[in-house]
Amino acid sequence: MTLAIFGGQPVRQRMLPYARQFISNQDKDAITAVLDSAYLTTGPLVNDFEDAFAIVANSKHAVALSSGTAALHAAMHILDIGPGDEVIVPAITFVATANCVLYQGGMPVFADVEPDTLLIDPRSVQKNITGKTRAIIAVDYAGQPCDYEKLRNVATAHNLKLVTDASHSLGSSYSGKATGSIADLTTFSFHPVKHITTGEGGMVTTDDEHYAERLRCFRNHGITQDHRQRSGNDTWFYEMKTLGFNYRITDIQCALGLSQMQKLYEWIDKRNEIANYYHEAFKGSTAIKPLQHMDNVTHAYHLYVIRLNAAQLTADRDEIYSALRAEGIGVNVHYMPVYLHPYYRDVFGDRSGLCPDSESAFQQILTLPLFPEMSKDDRRDVVDAVNKVTDYYGAN
Ligand SMILES: *Cc1c(COP(=O)(O)O)cnc(C)c1O
Repeated sequence: MTLAIFGGQPVRQRMLPYARQFISNQDKDAITAVLDSAYLTTGPLVNDFEDAFAIVANSKHAVALSSGTAALHAAMHILDIGPGDEVIVPAITFVATANCVLYQGGMPVFADVEPDTLLIDPRSVQKNITGKTRAIIAVDYAGQPCDYEKLRNVATAHNLKLVTDASHSLGSSYSGKATGSIADLTTFSFHPVKHITTGEGGMVTTDDEHYAERLRCFRNHGITQDHRQRSGNDTWFYEMKTLGFNYRITDIQCALGLSQMQKLYEWIDKRNEIANYYHEAFKGSTAIKPLQHMDNVTHAYHLYVIRLNAAQLTADRDEIYSALRAEGIGVNVHYMPVYLHPYYRDVFGDRSGLCPDSESAFQQILTLPLFPEMSKDDRRDVVDAVNKVTDYYGAN
């Protein structure tokens, strides 16, 4: 069969995106109701969303912010990360995981990832610890929790704070513990490609009351509410205690988030069902290998990532990417190692070779479409297109 990229018939006409949000009529009704209420922002729905979220994350506190990036920035701020401090992050992640350290004047230090899972490698974390290291940000890549037993041991031994960027892993668990209850601080994102959306939005969960208080202060310009709470609401008095930001989330967004949460576990089941379908379909393939799903976790499957077996293929990742796009399959790449981005090269120099396992993974990974509302035909199209393209470029 001629590939679509060479003028053949594509597997499908309309591009299947790698991710897409789903907004129900119930979601729309929830938003409309807020528009008719007294509060568009700083109203009761922010607390309602936080309370519902804390239950899912099994955490004492949940603080909602304007984005997942704001959540990461807030986490670094309240850990007092600053100039001279180092924070270890995985090389393969979205840039925001490392940028949040720079916002505070600290230095992100890149650890390598495990080849089979692309999760931060605890041995690489250990190797990168110096006298300046203050914290680790682990990323639950693709929706799978990291090896928290090992990470916690390393953190405890060196007196480091453990933060999870759980932008991919809402609703997952590690050894029976809900994501959001494991690290000292856990951050989430509600961007439309993530499990639930608020348009833009984020959350930090923690069991530490002092942290929660500081997070609320930081998202509101660094202004404390103490006096207002003490003297009731009819006082003009407030004080700014730290240089915070306006990282607040609106009640409109929280209404959407609350409504979306009702579908969370149903959607995660659907994601796992589609992932299992892919696993089965690709079991016998020598050309590609899906990432490993570990035993002691439940996986939230934000992404379904395959690795190409370069020895079995006559084309590289970019050629296979283009061929699959031409077939109507919206494949993607998550992610280029952060330090290879132009900004990081400009500021910190060329550090090619720093994390070899991350760099070789980057050359071989493709993210296949995965979202709960994908139809059976959509899934079949993905498998057909992957087989069509890898058969064509097969080395034997
Ligand atoms: C989406 C994402 C973020 C940023 O979240 P925003 O809500 O888009 O700011 C941070 N880290 C990871 C790993 C992400 O996937």
